[in-house]
Amino acid sequence: TPNSVEARDIAYHMHPAVNLRKFEEKGGLVIESGDGVYVYDNTGKRYIEGLAGLWSVAVGFGEKRLVEAAAAQLQKLPYYHSFNYKTNGPSVDLAELLISIAPVPMSKVHFTSSGSEANDLVAKMVWYRSNALGKPEKKKIIGRIKGYHGVTIAAGSITGIPANHTSFDLPLDRMVHTSCPSFPHFGEDGESEEAFTARMLKDLEDLIVKEGPETIAAFWGEPVMGAGGVLTPPKGYWEGVQVILKKYDILLVADEVICGFGRTGKMFACETYDIKPDVLVISKQLSSSYMPLSAIMMNDNFYQPIADESDKIGVFAHGFTASGHPVATAVGLENVKIIIERDLVGNAARLEKTFLDGLAKLAEHPLVDSSRGIGLIGALELTPWEQEGAGAAALAVAEAIQEEGCIIRNIGEAICFCPPLIITAEQIEEMFAIVLRALNKVAETR
Ligand code: PLP
Repeated sequence: TPNSVEARDIAYHMHPAVNLRKFEEKGGLVIESGDGVYVYDNTGKRYIEGLAGLWSVAVGFGEKRLVEAAAAQLQKLPYYHSFNYKTNGPSVDLAELLISIAPVPMSKVHFTSSGSEANDLVAKMVWYRSNALGKPEKKKIIGRIKGYHGVTIAAGSITGIPANHTSFDLPLDRMVHTSCPSFPHFGEDGESEEAFTARMLKDLEDLIVKEGPETIAAFWGEPVMGAGGVLTPPKGYWEGVQVILKKYDILLVADEVICGFGRTGKMFACETYDIKPDVLVISKQLSSSYMPLSAIMMNDNFYQPIADESDKIGVFAHGFTASGHPVATAVGLENVKIIIERDLVGNAARLEKTFLDGLAKLAEHPLVDSSRGIGLIGALELTPWEQEGAGAAALAVAEAIQEEGCIIRNIGEAICFCPPLIITAEQIEEMFAIVLRALNKVAETR
């Protein structure tokens, strides 16, 4: 109807991550409220949020403690900045807490508002640091094909997903990409997982040698690739990558925007895979996305030259109006406390088997090729429908799943799951029962 939210949405609101012309035709689903692992649309229909929003609502919807933390901070001091030698309590408290739980010794935390902003700033800091060290030629950054680090100009360039580059004139020249280490997708016929890992590592080293090791400053990686389709690393991959980076004096930036705060069954996926980064980028589950918040954690090796350079120049001339926003950091602080107090990391670890077994069972369905995952993040890879084109099977199944009352995300031929960390075994069963019904419905039409 003409005055509905749906109609006015189409009229006035330009959405991210849609085909804009298709959106003008069909509009969007209006989500009105949420409670625990469920959200409700404006007709009152209930959905299990199988992707925790955008991989982020760890503590579930409607968590009163976060609402109260935000309200209390809004009343006390709704905003202040952290420029010009000013600070605020919640930002300091959260920085201290993050340093205390970091997977490796870290020196400083710098707050930003989104994963893209955080990665973009780390790229700038990498360049600043190379200048500080008198190595102006050491500026290139290696990302990975199918890696996702955001959409701003530097972060979007490190991202290795073609749609994020096409027509945006990205990537920047300084960003190069190495192979995607997804064994199910890129393993060759007859190749063992170990041989695949060795080939991925050789690709990385070949790229470094070709570009010139003296020109490469940093390597970026998500411990488990999320937006690329939930791609878990093959055996020995991270160990091998770190040996190569050490050999050529290349910084390691671990992007735990999705993995951080329990997703893989440990507080950080760097613990799961024994990754020792110089810089750790976090967001999403840091505040359960109740407020926009991200953070860069850096070790001394990374921080000290940057501090020296700022001293030489007179100022570290970077910052956002919302860097260390007190309401965002107050919510982040309360959220991380909840994750710790309720042992949501342990919940992910304990439910991993239920979750992965459930996915494996669904992989027996005729429409599904395979399943994968770790902790409480996983995917079903559908068998492609040759005639309809790439991604058609996953799109049809994702739409049917939504119709049946669960929201997940289709990426390529995968449908991806990343439920709130508060989910129970019964709710996982409920979610997968919906998925099975949807698969059967789609199968009937084939
Ligand atoms: N890094 C990773 C690993 C992500 O998954 C995302 C978003 O999905 C980002 C960075 C970008 O974060 P944002 O959308 O908050 O800019």
